[in-house]
Amino acid sequence: MTQSPATSPRPGRRTIGHRLQRFLAPVLRPIRDWQAPRIHRWMMHEASRPTQLTTRPALIIAPHHDDETFGCGGLIALKRDAGVPVKIVIVTDGRQSHGSVPGTDIEHLAQTRKREALQAINILGVTSEDVHFLDLPDQGLQQLDEARRNQAVAQLADLLKTFRPQELYVNHRTDRHPDHEAAYRLVDSAVGESGVPVGVYQYPIWLIWKGPCRTSMRPEDLAGALRLDVRAAQERKDRAIALYASQLPILPAGFVEQFQQGYEIFFPTRPSA
Ligand SMILES: [Zn+2]
Repeated sequence: MTQSPATSPRPGRRTIGHRLQRFLAPVLRPIRDWQAPRIHRWMMHEASRPTQLTTRPALIIAPHHDDETFGCGGLIALKRDAGVPVKIVIVTDGRQSHGSVPGTDIEHLAQTRKREALQAINILGVTSEDVHFLDLPDQGLQQLDEARRNQAVAQLADLLKTFRPQELYVNHRTDRHPDHEAAYRLVDSAVGESGVPVGVYQYPIWLIWKGPCRTSMRPEDLAGALRLDVRAAQERKDRAIALYASQLPILPAGFVEQFQQGYEIFFPTRPSA
């Protein structure tokens, strides 16, 4: 998951509002932790339109190991049940998830997260050969130099051209996490570069969790959501989530339950024909 420093605005955006938000964080955080799962549940059950699973091949992009399972675990399992090809890309190396915990062996952590990802994704029905690790710097996707960014875009574009998925799932473009938002931009560039006509669907991870207490939350961020009934795969998704043992202890209380309610939310960007 690799939480972002929630109260750290980007350079140049350290406004009075952000200072006030930081000052009020001890009060706001419990309110957020209480309301986010409820807003997520409301979106899943009321503020979205039902959608049907398709048999179109899908490429899933996860900024960190576990985002694919939280955001799309049910969709992945149901597509694999139907024999649909699914490939998964994990964008970062994941080594900063415990950044503030003293004594963390980040090399060991990176290997642990990779192993957890492969085990979790296998439970969802995708074999290790269909999982690609780009190993870009965790907490550093926004600061990639041009050469490395171009290389990442080219890798994603190559995968699009060889796999030719009809659907692509990536975290929401304003997912309230610097790596997530940067991952979306990489993917958007790669789709353009590849020329592959693919329907792009954005899934929320931090969007709702961090959104409501922030002034940057916009109604259009929540508009047009589709909900997919994944109850038939929820038990497998729960088992996959449980395999991310290195991440679960550092996630906020109530965060995981957002993704255990039998539905998944997707925001269509470029629906395929
Ligand atoms: Zn993440």
